[in-house]
Amino acid sequence: MESGSLIPAAELAARVRAAGARRVVLQLPDGLKRRAPSLVRAFGAEGIEVAAVAGDPCYGACDLALDTVALTGADLLVHVGHAPVEEREGVLYEHLSFDFDPAAVAAALPLLHGTEVGLVTTVQHVHLLKEVAEVLAAHGVRAEVGPGEGRTPLPGQVLGCSYANARALSAPEILYVGTGVFHAIGVALATGKHVIALDPYSGEVREVSGDADRLLRRRFALIEKARSAECVGIILSTKSGQARPALAARLAALSEKAMVITMREVSAAEMINFGCGAYVNTACPRLAYDDQVRFPVPLLTPQEFEVLVGARAWEEYEVDEIV
Ligand code: SF4
Repeated sequence: MESGSLIPAAELAARVRAAGARRVVLQLPDGLKRRAPSLVRAFGAEGIEVAAVAGDPCYGACDLALDTVALTGADLLVHVGHAPVEEREGVLYEHLSFDFDPAAVAAALPLLHGTEVGLVTTVQHVHLLKEVAEVLAAHGVRAEVGPGEGRTPLPGQVLGCSYANARALSAPEILYVGTGVFHAIGVALATGKHVIALDPYSGEVREVSGDADRLLRRRFALIEKARSAECVGIILSTKSGQARPALAARLAALSEKAMVITMREVSAAEMINFGCGAYVNTACPRLAYDDQVRFPVPLLTPQEFEVLVGARAWEEYEVDEIV
């Protein structure tokens, strides 16, 4: 079980005041929205008015409720749950930390090939990487942690749209510490290295090259299926940190069958309304890799569309990242 930290309302209110704000919009990820009433009350007790709580789904700091700030005339957006993916004025970020026992990393030792490993994790666990490295050192393994850059400003942090901290590593193999294997597969595709995934709560550990190979086979099949599409929708996200208009325009220019379609939430219903035989996702990269099952037709990555139209060889496959 994760030992979840509560949102530190008083500290957060102090940071809001230090930013010179008195009236804010509050944005929470879906899993924390039920904490909104108590947070609104706590802010009120600290003399801070919550003009509105953003109610749309929020999966990352790539989707800031800036329109709600403009609508309400608030001074500041308080975005809880994620670290920043870009520099933005008028946004205060509060990412949350979740603890685990750093000693859990010992479970990964039997799968390491050598004594030098890169460490990556998601934002909730970056605060523990130093202690994880100390446990590894006690077992004779030197751990390397990327410095933090761009969309992943915290050392060792990876996102489903950026593996910069994995690519920065010189270690010959990489250990991902966190739940699920999605990020570990992304790290394997982005680096081509031996990658191990450790769930620090269950102790489950696995090497992910087989998962990466299976993903690539599925992606190849989707490209082949997309060949029969009479029209291809190039999806351009309208979310603050997902919009890639130049990329969408460049991709659309690669095929007479393609047109750019803006979407806020990428949904099967909208795909059915347009009726295209395939779509290309320039929004959150996870949608194509992780959510294909939700969609009625192939949702290709930009690189896969390039393979489809002959602008890229399959052997030059790259994982999609927002850079
Ligand atoms: S684009 Fe996707 S992976 Fe990147 S921060 Fe947003 S939701 Fe997360």
